Amino acid sequence: MQIPPFSLEAQISEIGEEIEEALIKVFRSGKYIGGEEVTSFEKAFALATETSYSVSCNSGTDALILALRSLNIGQGDEVITSSFSFFATAEAITSVGARPVFVDIDPENYLMDLDLIEKAITSRTKAILPVHLFGHPLNMDKIMAIAEGNNLKVIEDCAQAAGAHWRGKPVGSYGDVGCFSFFPTKNLGAAGDGGAITTNDFYLAKTIRELAIHGMPKRYFHTNIGYNSRLDSLQAAILNVKLIRLNKWIEQRNEIAMNYRNKLSFFKTIRLPSNNLSNKAGHSWNQFVIRIMDNSFIQNIKTTSEDVSCNQNRDLFKAELHRLGVNTIIYYPIPIHLQPAYKELGYKEGSLPITEKVCNEVISLPIFPEMKSIQQSYVIDKIKEIFRK
Ligand SMILES: *Cc1c(COP(=O)(O)O)cnc(C)c1O
Repeated sequence: MQIPPFSLEAQISEIGEEIEEALIKVFRSGKYIGGEEVTSFEKAFALATETSYSVSCNSGTDALILALRSLNIGQGDEVITSSFSFFATAEAITSVGARPVFVDIDPENYLMDLDLIEKAITSRTKAILPVHLFGHPLNMDKIMAIAEGNNLKVIEDCAQAAGAHWRGKPVGSYGDVGCFSFFPTKNLGAAGDGGAITTNDFYLAKTIRELAIHGMPKRYFHTNIGYNSRLDSLQAAILNVKLIRLNKWIEQRNEIAMNYRNKLSFFKTIRLPSNNLSNKAGHSWNQFVIRIMDNSFIQNIKTTSEDVSCNQNRDLFKAELHRLGVNTIIYYPIPIHLQPAYKELGYKEGSLPITEKVCNEVISLPIFPEMKSIQQSYVIDKIKEIFRK
């Protein structure tokens, strides 16, 4: 059997026809920018995230850039965020002219360590940019308290967390702005790029909408240097079909995650995702990420000379799983602060020890809503085979 890390094919067989009908309708209408599909998606997404306004845009990266710009964050400003994220989190900060300041992560949940935020605040700090990584929500009560106490803005990176909530309230509804991605592999994925911003602030929503359309509040009248960042009508049509199923898909992800937790809790070499999941932290399980803590399994696997040359236990584990037909992905092998593109920020190996250690140990197991129990049992059996206990 071959198990993919994620699969969009299963979703296509569930809702493919409905999507095709919606696409044909838009295509035949001859209206491909804006229009009814985009408006209705924005309304529905604001409702789903319990926010007053949702503005759609071209990608999650653009959502972050538009959010930062709408809050007037730019040259000379600092934004506190996590280095354990997809590159775009920091890239957005840099691309508006500001500087990302990374704090280390909490080894329990891999999210920005809340106790380190205040120490990182300087006179130049303008905002905190928490990342609900893998779909695990941060403690937004604490973040908002720190932000209010220090007069900082909060931009939530919800790219992996559509459908996640903190204390029963959706992520993206706490901060000044929430930023979502509809990249195909996210929990709510388009058939291409897409993104959205959520906010309760009328003026921010208005500014973001204008910035996303060339800084143009009225046709051919430009008050800002903006962007061309819109959600295509065709993508909106797809997202309208998918959004109403998001909660069901997250429940399915949750079941798969709980089953992994139950079946893998026996193995000391495996560190499972946070044990502190409660009613407060409603995880959306975009990824199920474990850590490989030692090499006690090494005698059980057929290593090749190529495998042995990699020095991480995690990489050996990944190679062996691959050999057995289980395909996995590493999110993320190199933290942002050690990426060559960020050399000039001055971080070194050892600057963020927990982030760096976790990057060497993490591996994401296959998870997708339509994953069959026979597929998941296969993954679990192969892991058991590797640990052979
Ligand atoms: C995917 C992702 C982004 C960027 O979203 P795109 O739609 O790919 O531009 C930003 N931050 C995080 C944490 C992501 O996972």
